Amino acid sequence: MGKEYSLQELEKRILRCNRCGTCQDVCPTYRITGNENDVARSRVRLARLVLEGKYQWGEEEQLTANLNACLLCKACVAVCPANVPTDEIVMEARKYTQQRKGLPPFNRIAYRGVFSHNKRLALLTRVIRMYQKSGMNRVVQRSGFLKLLKDWGKAEDLLPPMPAQSLGQMLPDLLRPPASTTLRVVFFAGCAINFFYSRIGAASIRVLQANACQVAVPEVGCCGGPHQSGGDFSEAMRLAKGNIDRVLAQRPDVIVSDCATCSSVLKEYAALLGNDAEYGPRSAEFSAKVRDINELIVEKGWLRDLAPLAGRVSYHDPCHLARGQGITAAPRTILRSIPGLEMVEMREADMCCGGAGSYGALHPDMSRRILDRKMGNFKGTGATILATSCPSCAMQLEYGIRRHGLTASVMHPMELLALSCEKGRAPGAAAQTSGER
Ligand code: SF4
Ligand code: SF4
Repeated sequence: MGKEYSLQELEKRILRCNRCGTCQDVCPTYRITGNENDVARSRVRLARLVLEGKYQWGEEEQLTANLNACLLCKACVAVCPANVPTDEIVMEARKYTQQRKGLPPFNRIAYRGVFSHNKRLALLTRVIRMYQKSGMNRVVQRSGFLKLLKDWGKAEDLLPPMPAQSLGQMLPDLLRPPASTTLRVVFFAGCAINFFYSRIGAASIRVLQANACQVAVPEVGCCGGPHQSGGDFSEAMRLAKGNIDRVLAQRPDVIVSDCATCSSVLKEYAALLGNDAEYGPRSAEFSAKVRDINELIVEKGWLRDLAPLAGRVSYHDPCHLARGQGITAAPRTILRSIPGLEMVEMREADMCCGGAGSYGALHPDMSRRILDRKMGNFKGTGATILATSCPSCAMQLEYGIRRHGLTASVMHPMELLALSCEKGRAPGAAAQTSGER
């Protein structure tokens, strides 16, 4: 994610593909269907056909569907001997398609209509919480109404239990200025952490404060990742500029996120806005300060005085962390540093879980087939904690646990670290992990 290309630059990248087929071994959609249309080289070829004038962007419904079925997981990019950036090519294809055909309804309603506006997202979260708490969800599920909505009805399965408070609402009780400060940190509370997984954001802030960070949490907008994935670069740039202004006004030493998607997108603001006369240098300053929280904790060696936690944990690599930022060791180092916690690797830990932002809602059948493979690999570990560093993956994996009837909890490494770290600094306290949150 990050950079827009001119048509000439796009063509150069498309022409790098020599159709060697190496991407077949790793592309999740191809591994599920075995269909040549579902692999990276075919998606690259479809874009090439348009550049050769055989079709117009968005003209052929099936071609557009094949491009839209890409998870943007970068698994193909990581192994491609010709260095073809398939995910970026697909995003460009989506951009040109929407320039010809207009924004698809989902992107217009969900991304521009809701995720671009914190107040609307807060309202939506409250409505979903009422729907869940009142028991209305069970009535609707039993009524068969969701089946009438076909694929849209399936999206309801994915909803996590909405928290009583957003992270923003928790801040007055959470933020504590440290006696002495090692680092001025801006914690970037993206949409999913702020509204859906405030418990993860709270744990991350507690860990940062336990390590003498002075934490500020300015109100920010969506990082723009969902908009970019759909090819809506202009809205992504607008959001990026607002975030740069709000965050840099705090004069942070470091900008931290515990959402793999946010940190990956924030690190690429410099590429996204590199050609902008006003925001070019500011975006470079911004991106240079961004750290994923796992990365920061290990870099600083903040893994002392940890109390034992009981449990067996396995770790799922979010695409935006493993391939988006090359971070696979840091979360594992954190989990292995917690005494008593047994870390067991699952097969294909770095394979996409099928969540991929809104993919589960837009492509429910493919998403579920990919998820089932992930859950099968998780079951093989015998672990009862499934750790991951992205709220979008957490949402998908929690659905996987419900779907497969497993007794397990999905936790961010920061939730485990906060538990261990706080118990370790309160002598005599017995530490336990718990699925109750
Ligand atoms: S691995 Fe790269 S060069 Fe080979 S077919 Fe796939 S996209 Fe093309
Ligand atoms: S980004 Fe992922 S889903 Fe898309 S073509 Fe590459 S491997 Fe397949």
